[in-house]
Amino acid sequence: MKKIAILGSTGSIGTQTVDILPSIDAEVVALTTNRRIDLLEEQARALYPKMVCAFDEAAARDLKVKLADTGIRVLSGMDGLTACAAESGADIVVTAVVGMVGLLPTLAAIDAGKDIALANKETLVCAGELVMRAAREKGVKILPVDSEHSAIFQCAQAAHGNPLAKIILTASGGPFFGKTAAEMRSVTREQALAHPNWSMGAKITIDSATMMNKGLELIEAMWLYDMPPEDIEIVIHRESIVHSAVEFADGAMLAQLGLPDMRLPIQYALTYPARVPCKVPRLSLAEAAKLTFYAPDYEAFPALNLARQAAAQKGDRGAVLNGANEAAVGLFLEGRIGFAEIAERVAYALDAIAYRSSVTLDEVLEADRAAREIVLA
Ligand code: NAD
Ligand code: MG
Repeated sequence: MKKIAILGSTGSIGTQTVDILPSIDAEVVALTTNRRIDLLEEQARALYPKMVCAFDEAAARDLKVKLADTGIRVLSGMDGLTACAAESGADIVVTAVVGMVGLLPTLAAIDAGKDIALANKETLVCAGELVMRAAREKGVKILPVDSEHSAIFQCAQAAHGNPLAKIILTASGGPFFGKTAAEMRSVTREQALAHPNWSMGAKITIDSATMMNKGLELIEAMWLYDMPPEDIEIVIHRESIVHSAVEFADGAMLAQLGLPDMRLPIQYALTYPARVPCKVPRLSLAEAAKLTFYAPDYEAFPALNLARQAAAQKGDRGAVLNGANEAAVGLFLEGRIGFAEIAERVAYALDAIAYRSSVTLDEVLEADRAAREIVLA
């Protein structure tokens, strides 16, 4: 029986992970939230983990009272999150927290020899080189949960040692597909939060609207598959049925298809290399009937170019791009800046912070801090 720690168990990916647990042979050893303690309590009473963490200190105090009769250890803050990742006795850690807050616990889990089911893409965007190197050194697997990266992972299993010549990353295009930059200036928070195909946390939903999500995924794919960014093509595919594709030297292209439902990639990351029945509804190609593909509009969605450039430069650019984006999306969600200003502030931070071509962990944390400070100023 696999022992699983779920970081961010109260979020969109976290709750869907809990949902598929009955399909797999697993025991949950740790659960974490930021401050949704009612849901965390419910999950803890159902799954009986060894330890839980509420990142927020006040929430952790309340949770401790709620769980007093259970004997479950209640932790808080970054130490608590890291303990849940590295000291809960997990075989595999699902990283489903949002944002670069996932970086230190992920590194701690790798250091402790845990495999990672990685949803928290911000970690790879900030520090892909450090994370992938640590994973190689410790011999741990980084199993992708992000649907596109899971698709690439599944297709790559047909490679039999042959290198991938190209990755084709599909993108739904989000709620503002087909709009010009001028038309997007006046869009509201509610319009940006209305994703056509996926129901997700607020931050990634805004990233999908700006298409920064696809930019972050480009960087995520570059690190996961050691692929030069110029060999990663982004294609708009409105139906979100083809989750991504790979191409080989002979031009053969393989793709993975399915209905847009995160529970399949989550489950596969946890059962790999086995495949077991999944509760996700089956795709009918006849019902899907038509699949469409378009080139992305790099002019209307400047976040794509910012991410492409950061991917090409590497060094500290991923940390600056991500930190600035997290801060700018936060401001947009609070109604303090307009939609177009998200990418503008990210571009400004990338300009303002001097480029470093290689980074230590401390320098990644510093680049992240500096980027946030500039965006919030
Ligand atoms: P979400 O907002 O629904 O959930 C985030 C989780 O992280 C919650 O449990 C929350 O309590 C916790 N959290 C938030 N801030 C925290 C903090 N400061 N410290 C500790 N914990 C904190 O987000 P989500 O949509 O589930 O996304 C999680 C991650 O998965 C993101 O990195 C996202 O990019 C990635 N992802 C999500 C989807 C999706 O369909 N939702 C798909 C692919 C990748
Ligand atoms: Mg994705």
